[in-house]
Amino acid sequence: MNRVAGRLRVRDDLAGLTPYGAPQLDVPVRLNTNETPYPVPRAVLDDLADAVRRLELHRYPDREATELREALALHAGHGLEGTWAANGSNEVLQQLLLAFAGPGRSALVVEPTYAMHSLLARATGTRVVGRVHPRDELLDPDAAADLVAEAAADLTFWCSPNNPTGEATGAEVMAAVCAAAPGLVVVDEAYGEFGTSHAAGLLSRFPNLVVTRTFSKAFRMAGLRLGYLLADPAVVDGVRLVRLPYHLSTLTQAVGLRALQHKGELMDHIAATGRERERVAQRLARLPGVGVLPSDANFLCFHTPVDPPTLWRRLLDRGVLVRDVSGYPTLDRHLRVTVGTTAEDDAFLAAIAAELA
Ligand code: PMP
Repeated sequence: MNRVAGRLRVRDDLAGLTPYGAPQLDVPVRLNTNETPYPVPRAVLDDLADAVRRLELHRYPDREATELREALALHAGHGLEGTWAANGSNEVLQQLLLAFAGPGRSALVVEPTYAMHSLLARATGTRVVGRVHPRDELLDPDAAADLVAEAAADLTFWCSPNNPTGEATGAEVMAAVCAAAPGLVVVDEAYGEFGTSHAAGLLSRFPNLVVTRTFSKAFRMAGLRLGYLLADPAVVDGVRLVRLPYHLSTLTQAVGLRALQHKGELMDHIAATGRERERVAQRLARLPGVGVLPSDANFLCFHTPVDPPTLWRRLLDRGVLVRDVSGYPTLDRHLRVTVGTTAEDDAFLAAIAAELA
């Protein structure tokens, strides 16, 4: 350590945190980060390259990303003024916390859920109000409203379909949450396209509702880093106060805009992914001691008869990388696997069947 580094100390409220991130390992079958396994088709890549060739990279990008936001608004059936984009939905979530939470305010996180919700809250100085609700227990509208009202948070995170468990929240529960929450309700729909429940239909009734979405999952463009939100225009006005100038690069804006013209092609795997999910779920459920949670997403969460970290390591030794979620509240016996190609899923099923035999 050099002399300067020896004196460096991160903020007291960050001490003890570890950086978030699943292992990025070079193994034959990667089913741990819920991307779509199918690459962007060659012809679409060529068209994206054409969009890039026309860019004026010596100029700053449009700070408001207006053309892209217009296309996103049209895609989502929402108004331009209430549509906002950033570098992945993670950055959208961070901007929401910076604008509407932060020091002196709180965010409700209902565990087990996406770990970045509480990490981003902590990183922005927001007090995390944690509540645990096992996802295989039914949550009715009254119970959901009680949970949210009692927590009294300035910002309520609600992940639907929930990562890492997979279940989506229906419109009735979602409406009860929006009505009961004293502040903003951020519905994280990173996996929304894989299911049938979407909160956007409630936007006109609830000005405190924000829906966040991403190009990283069903849209097959995790490498692009593009996410967006749909909300009341007042939410977008708030986010403008904290966004970095020119936060969304010219490249991201142009490629995102052109990609939207190919959305049919890019998302044409969704029905097949759903069928494949059910095939994997059925095969998994037949293994001794394995139970699979219902999923509206492109992944499955399942409990195992073997210690999850041990099974995770053995699957890795067989060239299959899944996600160990056993550190999440109520999931101490669970692993999570992304739905891949048929060949990848067969490799996973063969590996886990061999381990549990
Ligand atoms: N929300 C959830 C629930 C996720 O699982 C992820 C990615 N793992 C994200 C948001 C962030 O995705 P991105 O920043 O790539 O849009």
